[in-house]
Amino acid sequence: MYKRTDLTSKSSQASLRPDFIAKTVADIDFDYLKSLGITTCFIDLDGTVVSRGTFEVEPLIKARLKDSGLDIKIATNRPKSRDLKELKEDLSASGVIHPQGLYGKPTKRYIRAALKEYGLRGNQVVMIGDRFLQDIFGANRSGVYSLVVYKLGKSKGRLDELLSNIERKVTQRLQGSYRKV
Ligand SMILES: [Mg+2]
Repeated sequence: MYKRTDLTSKSSQASLRPDFIAKTVADIDFDYLKSLGITTCFIDLDGTVVSRGTFEVEPLIKARLKDSGLDIKIATNRPKSRDLKELKEDLSASGVIHPQGLYGKPTKRYIRAALKEYGLRGNQVVMIGDRFLQDIFGANRSGVYSLVVYKLGKSKGRLDELLSNIERKVTQRLQGSYRKV
């Protein structure tokens, strides 16, 4: 896992730069995150723990989340469904954060409502996701720690592929200036 070298305390900032980078969820150093006072993960689904639109979680990711010692909440713009219930079990998650009407990720309202509901401060939470705009920007502007992972699975369509290629290149470049932790 890699960390932004200028990361001290977490404050709200409209920034696309993730605080942390990990290859996959299985590579996250949860003990390090806990040492910063983080108690809770808000975790994205598509491209982060499952390939786009699927429901199969790799055993290693399941195991790592189960043993993470952090409270896991699924943060998704997906609608309620039975599959989501199964994913919740697979990820050892204690809750699912759904969009507030029209307000899903990356709106402030989405994250702030979740913090309020669970009685958390922003600096107790890390948002884990694969998209800079939806996951990382949304977290940073709400004062929640942000961790980007390289996208799992194939992209859907040309626009998505283009965006995903840009995100991968940006992440690789950033990683070069981050510190390994
Ligand atoms: Mg995603």
